[in-house]
Amino acid sequence: MNLTVPHVLTVVFVAGALLNAATAVLAWRHRTRTPAARALSAAAASLAVWAAVCAPQNLPLPQGLHDGLTYASFATILGAVVSLHLLARFVVDPHLRLSRAHVAHLVAVPAAVLLAVATDPLHHLVFTRIVPLGHAPWYDDRFGPLFWVHTAWCYLLLTDAAVRLARAWLTGSAVLRPQAGGLLLASTFPLAGNVAVLCGAHVLSGQDLTPLFFTLTGLLDAWVVLRLGLLRTVPVARAAVLETIDDHVVVIDAEGTVVDVNASGRAFLAARRPDLPADPVGVAASQFLTHRALADLTRGPLDYVLEYTPGYHVSVKVTALTDRRGRALGRVLVARDITDLVETRRRLEELQARLSEEAVRDPLTGLHNRRHLDPAAAQLLRLASPDGPVGVLVVDVDHFKSVNDRYGHAVGDEVLVAVAHALRAAAREGDLVARTGGEEFVLVLPGARPGTLARRAEDVRAACAAVRVRTPADTVRRTVSVGTASVTDPGTGLADVLARADAALYEAKESGRDRVVHSRDAQPADRG
Ligand code: GH3
Ligand code: MG
Ligand code: MG
Repeated sequence: MNLTVPHVLTVVFVAGALLNAATAVLAWRHRTRTPAARALSAAAASLAVWAAVCAPQNLPLPQGLHDGLTYASFATILGAVVSLHLLARFVVDPHLRLSRAHVAHLVAVPAAVLLAVATDPLHHLVFTRIVPLGHAPWYDDRFGPLFWVHTAWCYLLLTDAAVRLARAWLTGSAVLRPQAGGLLLASTFPLAGNVAVLCGAHVLSGQDLTPLFFTLTGLLDAWVVLRLGLLRTVPVARAAVLETIDDHVVVIDAEGTVVDVNASGRAFLAARRPDLPADPVGVAASQFLTHRALADLTRGPLDYVLEYTPGYHVSVKVTALTDRRGRALGRVLVARDITDLVETRRRLEELQARLSEEAVRDPLTGLHNRRHLDPAAAQLLRLASPDGPVGVLVVDVDHFKSVNDRYGHAVGDEVLVAVAHALRAAAREGDLVARTGGEEFVLVLPGARPGTLARRAEDVRAACAAVRVRTPADTVRRTVSVGTASVTDPGTGLADVLARADAALYEAKESGRDRVVHSRDAQPADRG
């Protein structure tokens, strides 16, 4: 078989059709990721059909089939152009929402063109004269005015797409730029090639090579898809990101009027300020900002927390907006709901306070423990003076071990709690009462002169001796022994004074228990 140029071209067209079909399938697999995938798939499918339709145009087919293919090619051209236009639009802005007018335009014009093509034998506005197809290629016809209108419309859409891609390529994000650049390059093949064909530069015995140029476009688009991750890393418009974040974003112009609010900001204002218009854009910021926030607007970038409505806390960040020359354009307010955070912090502080209080309390009696006594007593001792001595009592329950032995540990605990209660009742404001050991307690009485100290020590002894703890079998009572010491020198340490009081306590125990013994410095006779 002799391979002629038309035969070779037919094979090339079929190859182009297959390549485009492969691109269409590939893009369709990614259709849920971005609307650009659907547009690319539709464009590649249209180009595949176009190439397939053009493939047999030089083969000896029946006249009717040739005519049908010629007319069908209009539908595929229009499909490819509209899809490539949408591909560019969705690549540049994946969140684009087409207006109804835009969609109507993209549907109505192709429909009108196809109607004109279908009725062409009646008016010859698409082709001025009908030349039998077959060996004379259809494009050798003289084209009618509607053909040129159709062509101009297609170029307008493709030029619009190219301009948008060029803009994205020049100014887009790092992710968007290579994608836009690749698609832009791809879009130049059919533009350049088709212009050459339409201008009469028929290269290969008058063939219409446009589908081949578009096949190159489809291939490069597929490369962009596979290599540049067009469908994997969807470039997201920043405005769209703003809509998804939870922070309330409000943009205010230099005059203090709201010019933009994101979805979260609108929801916030709708919930907290139902008195404001449903659309806050155009509202004066003074209507919903506090005086402080308003004042902050005129100052610089700021970060602060405020209770916007009772119990509702927000952290606010105010940032100035300026143009390239530094002139003020307005402010951006970003407010974040931190109510939960503030509440958690409050509970944490409460817990911390409770924990640190518990750390200095004896869990059995609720009295302070040694950890509290040491620093607190040291502080009181530093204020001691001859005119304001500090008295110290060491109280120890007599024969306490026998309570445990006879009635059990639980009853022993009850006795300790009751004694602690008696000690707390005997204390006055400013006194310290602490449990320092098993059945041993310390009282620090600031301002108690020896005479007072002796009286109060005796009161403490008597109060403890009066404690009764009832058990099913018996009533438990115990006495206490008390040793006292007194400090007049602010330089005296707690260990020193406790040692003296302990010595007096030892003496009380030794001399029969249930009594108060004063260390020498605390003798009531000495100081009155
Ligand atoms: P003295 O008159 O000499 O002070 O004799 P005492 O029995 O009171 O003194 P001793 O030091 O021999 O015994 C103190 C006992 O207190 C020993 C210990 O088991 C008991 N004890 C210490 N802490 C607790 C407590 O928290 N609960 C109970 N139930 N008993 C305790
Ligand atoms: Mg004891
Ligand atoms: Mg003891």
